[in-house]
Amino acid sequence: MYIYNTLTRKKEKFEPINEGRVGMYVCGPTVYGDAHLGHARPAITFDLLFRYLQHLGYKVRYVRNITDVGHLEHDADEGEDKIAKKARLEQLEPMEVAQYFTNRFHEAMNALNVLPPSIEPHATGHIMEQEELVQEIIDNGYAYESNGSVYFDVEKYNKDHKYGILSGRNLDETLDNSRELAGVGEKRNQADFALWKKAQPEHIMRWNSPWSVGFPGWHCECTAMGRKYLGNHFDIHGGGMDLVFPHHECEIAQAVASQGDDMVKYWMHNNMITINGQKMGKSLNNFITLSQFFSGDHEKLERAYSPMTIRFFILQAHYRSTVDFSNEALQAAEKGLQRLTEGYNRLMKIVPANETTVDVNGLRQKCEEAMQDDLNSPIVIAHLFDALKAINTINDGKATINAADLDELKSVFKLFLVDILGLKMEDAGAETSGLTAMKGAVDLLLQIRQEAKANKDWATADKIRNELSALGFEIKDGKDKVEWTLN
Ligand code: ZN
Repeated sequence: MYIYNTLTRKKEKFEPINEGRVGMYVCGPTVYGDAHLGHARPAITFDLLFRYLQHLGYKVRYVRNITDVGHLEHDADEGEDKIAKKARLEQLEPMEVAQYFTNRFHEAMNALNVLPPSIEPHATGHIMEQEELVQEIIDNGYAYESNGSVYFDVEKYNKDHKYGILSGRNLDETLDNSRELAGVGEKRNQADFALWKKAQPEHIMRWNSPWSVGFPGWHCECTAMGRKYLGNHFDIHGGGMDLVFPHHECEIAQAVASQGDDMVKYWMHNNMITINGQKMGKSLNNFITLSQFFSGDHEKLERAYSPMTIRFFILQAHYRSTVDFSNEALQAAEKGLQRLTEGYNRLMKIVPANETTVDVNGLRQKCEEAMQDDLNSPIVIAHLFDALKAINTINDGKATINAADLDELKSVFKLFLVDILGLKMEDAGAETSGLTAMKGAVDLLLQIRQEAKANKDWATADKIRNELSALGFEIKDGKDKVEWTLN
């Protein structure tokens, strides 16, 4: 497999550090608000990678953290802690805020069929490891204490190593410009970033440390937890492109300053989602949460979009290209997914013949090749759409397929569509508006039947049951509720 390494700016053949095993770290959410479309993209991108690596036979340890302390409002490094601020406004314990939004995040990820990571460490659970990291950096001469806070000495680091290798920023210019500002505040240089912050009296999240009662800087957690769970050197570190600078740049600096080299072999970044060409942001009033997408409850949304539509919409673009959200684009994705789902369901019902008169050879190979080429999901989807034409021809009785070819075709569709792209075919089938309306109508009929039964109107109750059965609905009377399926 080839993957694009942000650090070397080229596609590289993927060769794990330890044979047969992959260590992968992805930056997770800062849990102070509901997950939005911008959270869905890295989650789905690295879920695709997680699924594909496992398909290739690797034993993957996938670590995705929860940031519940240290992410400050401005430049990640200044202002109030995002979680503490929410807790203050809502009069909650900060951990109540973090837990609530962690639960909400898990619900959204579950709806999007994003597999849970192997380990989900919290920053607040790893204060000790972060303090150890800070001490190592101080001992190696790349950090200084200032008024109880500890800052990374970017200028010193840049003399011995190159700061900015991931983002390609020329720090010399930045340093020159910011030198005029030096002396303002605690930092020697504006480019320096906090490793430890002394807590102000009103700051409610605080821990003891050799330097002050305070809290770790945001960038520390990923270096400390990545190292704890994946070792000093691991294969993949991922996240959104917006994390390249400063977050990941600072992580590299922290790793090099503490252990002498970077921990990460391949840096991978997904591109951003824009809304009508604009960056998503709270101030732009185009900030749409995932639950708003699922419910349709937002002024920019013409209607609700199912989690599988969102997932398919994201996978339709290569993870390194930008994706622009619009109602039209989502509705097109919904239609595409519907066609794939219908084709999939048709395929599962095709009866084999003696010979194959369509060309379905090489589909597996083509899909594998697309995935091997830096996770090219849109090409996989294009190949599956091509195969749909053959499926539809067979379904129309204009072509035939033998048993062996049919089994292969079914297996390829299941593997790529369901297992690797992670699209739920059964749910997708019920997603289209017509089917949603039908579900509602059946539920309504069953409700009327329950009322009839309560009124001892057995004739009506039986009539509804029998008519629905005749239409192919199987009604199961449970203890508390009535369930139905369509055969
Ligand atoms: Zn991170």
